[in-house]
Amino acid sequence: MSGGDMAKPLLGHQSMEGDPSIAPAAGRTIGVLGSGDFARSLAIRLVCSGFKVVVGSRNPKRKAGLFPSAAEVTFQAEAVKKTDVIFVAVFREHYSTLCDLADVLAGKILVDVSNNTEINHHKESNAEYLASLFPACTVVKGFNVVSAWTLQSGARDGNKQVLICSNNQEAKRIVAEIAQVMGFTPVDMGCMSSACEIENIPLRLLPAWKIPIFLALGLFLCFFTYNLVRQVIHPYIREQKNKFYKIPVEVVNTTLPCVAYVMLSLVYLPGVLAACSQLYYGTKYRRFPDWLDQWLQHRKQIGLLSFFCAALHAVYSLCLPMRRSHRYQLIETAVKQAVEKKMNIWVEEEVWRMEIYLSVGIIALGLLSLLAITSLPSIANSLNWREFSFIQSTLGFIALVISTLHTLTYGWSRAFDENQYKFYLPPTYTLTLLVPCTVILAKVVFSLPCIQQRLLRIRRGWEKGRYVKFVLPSATGEYSSGETSSNV
Ligand code: NAP
Repeated sequence: MSGGDMAKPLLGHQSMEGDPSIAPAAGRTIGVLGSGDFARSLAIRLVCSGFKVVVGSRNPKRKAGLFPSAAEVTFQAEAVKKTDVIFVAVFREHYSTLCDLADVLAGKILVDVSNNTEINHHKESNAEYLASLFPACTVVKGFNVVSAWTLQSGARDGNKQVLICSNNQEAKRIVAEIAQVMGFTPVDMGCMSSACEIENIPLRLLPAWKIPIFLALGLFLCFFTYNLVRQVIHPYIREQKNKFYKIPVEVVNTTLPCVAYVMLSLVYLPGVLAACSQLYYGTKYRRFPDWLDQWLQHRKQIGLLSFFCAALHAVYSLCLPMRRSHRYQLIETAVKQAVEKKMNIWVEEEVWRMEIYLSVGIIALGLLSLLAITSLPSIANSLNWREFSFIQSTLGFIALVISTLHTLTYGWSRAFDENQYKFYLPPTYTLTLLVPCTVILAKVVFSLPCIQQRLLRIRRGWEKGRYVKFVLPSATGEYSSGETSSNV
């Protein structure tokens, strides 16, 4: 094996040095059944973490050259005899071919590292299936969430968590120790019934992002169609002008800020709805409806997508003057002015509008970048609760207000110009203002002292007309119950 990354000491290994609970794991002999990609990476990592490794293969002679020289590669039965902890690095379909080893495997710990190709592929998890084939063994599910690449890439990169479950606490502890020595963070997922859930994890594609992505795509499609009708279809039908060249850049660039702005307001709208619900019911102990719960949980992803669209809008806007169509239009305007002998084209109001529009846009993008950076787990973990809520809540709301100013300076007086109502459709920016302005207005109302005080009391546990159950002994010595209002 080449030295490379794996020759360097592992972070986890270093951090566990001096921890007496971990000492017995290092130096232990670990068995690996199988000689494929995962077995190879696992063996390399185990060797580098100080374990003795014995690999069990159907064809040890052919496979030995693929493993580090410190690892012993032998026949399956031989390997199993030399160790008590064996990683089963073969696919579920081949588990039954290991049944000949049942006698030598009896009483040993088998670590099931397997994954499936589909979510809930089989009725029982792979680990439960392995346990049913080898009832005399103790099966631990683990390591399936780390890839062969993560195992190879050493301490610097890759997922650090190893999810572990088993019905046997001692076996689970031993495997957790091995994971720690290898530089991973073991996470106890409970008993074997969690195996199915653990096996499904590597198959899920961005589960937390699904709803926000569909939301962003839905908004993009709606605004894109709306802008297309106003900017391209309307001039084509009404004035027979071909403006289809606008589709790739201009229409996209007027759509992106609409999505970014509305998405940003959708980060703060569920908080407003939650506050309304708390004020209405006079308690914080009533569960929100499921859709609101889901919405609250997806705010981070919605905010990040808002930032993504805003960043794209900035890049598109910077590129606008590079387009050939823009140059032609500039020259055309200059020629027209020369023909009309117009010398002064300076419109003071337009100049100021543009300066303010750009400036607030840049500030809004800067604030959104700050929100995006602080939502990264490594940064968020370094902030205390007050700092995090100041940035995400206060600065986030300021970003929404500044984005509203950006939108208003863009629209200026266009909402009052009847030429702007193409096919009687109002300018797009007036539509985008609806949700953000509702959120801003609601926040202003909530900051009124009478409402703010009530909300604060509710969030500290006060409840409207709360009744407390009490139990009194009766004259006969029996207990009778009743209710009284805590407010009295
Ligand atoms: P692989 O490269 O195809 O290796 C599978 C190994 O299984 C073979 O090299 C073979 O070794 C052994 N085997 C034992 N009995 C077998 C049989 N009857 N037919 C064929 N092969 C047999 O697969 P892998 O990528 O290492 O994956 C192994 C296990 O790790 C799978 O359960 C997989 O889900 C899991 N896993 C893999 C990764 C990854 O990144 N690759 C990540 C997480 C989990 P011998 O010929 O030496 O016996």
